Amino acid sequence: MSDFRFLGGRLSVNFTATLGLRWREPGVERLATPADLARWFVEAGVTDQHMATGPEDLSDAHHLREAIYRLARTRLGHGHPDDADLALVNLWAARRPAPISLRPTPDGLSARLDEPTPPGLLALIGRDAVDLLGDPEAARLRECAGPECSLLYIDTSRAGNRRWCSMDSCGSRDKMSRYRRRTTG
Ligand SMILES: [Zn+2]
Repeated sequence: MSDFRFLGGRLSVNFTATLGLRWREPGVERLATPADLARWFVEAGVTDQHMATGPEDLSDAHHLREAIYRLARTRLGHGHPDDADLALVNLWAARRPAPISLRPTPDGLSARLDEPTPPGLLALIGRDAVDLLGDPEAARLRECAGPECSLLYIDTSRAGNRRWCSMDSCGSRDKMSRYRRRTTG
């Protein structure tokens, strides 16, 4: 079973979830090896190919991810955007994009890079972050209310009042603990 989390609703937001339980400092690193990064690309649906990834790609991925995460937090009202973070995300987003094609898949159609490479896919993530964080949609960015969770997600509920990364995990844990408090207190 995958240990990756894809609850964010956007490629760049899901990418920030590859470091889990951030409050622990250090959190849970789900991109611990270059092979993890290759697997994430496939599970995130940006490529069908397990491509060769090296230590440099992994280091680039970590730096890009943390810059996106810190900028996303500023959209949640935590601090101000850091110039170095902006420069890094902008650098990736500015890379010449690889050509994409529409391909048939068992359940429909999907867009794929013609010649995916790890830097090409990181550029795709950088571009998604720029699209999102510079857009009014970023007002729908949330941080899970679970005290032991730090996942970010886009709240697509009509009322804009979704509190949990997932009802199945953090949401039901909250319901259980409130129930226990009620029955024991
Ligand atoms: Zn959560």
